[in-house]
Amino acid sequence: MVIIADTHCDTLCRILDEGGGLAEGEFNVTLEKMAWYEHYTQVFACFIDPIYKSNAKGRCIRLIEEFYRQTALCNMAVCRSGKDIIEARKNHIPAAMLSIEGGEAIESLGDLELYSRLGVKMIALTWNYDNHIAGGVFGNAGLSRFGRDVVRRMNELHIAVDVSHLNERSFWDVMEVTNARPIASHSSSFSVCAHKRNLTDEQFSEIVSRSGYVGINIYPVFLNGTKNADTDDVLRHIDRFLELGGEDTIGIGADFDGVDCLPEGLCGCDRIGSLFEKMDRLGYSKTVMEKIAYGNFDRMTANI
Ligand SMILES: [Zn+2]
Repeated sequence: MVIIADTHCDTLCRILDEGGGLAEGEFNVTLEKMAWYEHYTQVFACFIDPIYKSNAKGRCIRLIEEFYRQTALCNMAVCRSGKDIIEARKNHIPAAMLSIEGGEAIESLGDLELYSRLGVKMIALTWNYDNHIAGGVFGNAGLSRFGRDVVRRMNELHIAVDVSHLNERSFWDVMEVTNARPIASHSSSFSVCAHKRNLTDEQFSEIVSRSGYVGINIYPVFLNGTKNADTDDVLRHIDRFLELGGEDTIGIGADFDGVDCLPEGLCGCDRIGSLFEKMDRLGYSKTVMEKIAYGNFDRMTANI
């Protein structure tokens, strides 16, 4: 039995769009699959799909509502801090944390206060495209003047700035402004697979130097550029980040329920344990595996 924390899934969107719920749906993340572990923590993203651009805030509020509905139905612990996660673990209750993916939902700095009060603990400033805050991986913009204010206000409210999906220019702009630990909730290594969604060695090293966190994304296209992958592909990304001194930085940010394919043998949150079984067979130390499985996320959330 193992303990797992995963820092990104799009299950809330699937529940809203397809119906069903954590207790009954055919999703990558379900209550039954979480129960596979001694303890499981899931960060649920409110992903603002570009089709909702004209009503991004409304869509975000609707997703937050669904988060509270699902976690109540499943008796999950809604966690607003690392302390809450540890408490939930002690009580053997699966833990849930709330994030937003897409700054379109932020119309004013006041909205950040609202989201903070509603329990949002991390926000990805963009999805793949530029917005009024920053530039996504398919855009060219940097952090806007409003974006700088957003980052500063997030720092004050202890909402982690999630740099996954930012283009490089915006990434480095954020590093200039932020004074908190950065998080890339679901990003892998560009030097292993040259996809724009992955982090360069320089970006990863910057996050390491700031005691931040990077959740490995297991979408095959980000792992090896194809739609077929297996646990070895995931390990190549873990190994590269470990080579760069990432032992205290990496975790899992699988991107469950947000991708059109998954690696063989890792097709749901119940299967993440098999990645660690393989690491065990290959001789990775127990300490390193525990840090990747949940310890580094505990450390990341210790002061939020
Ligand atoms: Zn994403």
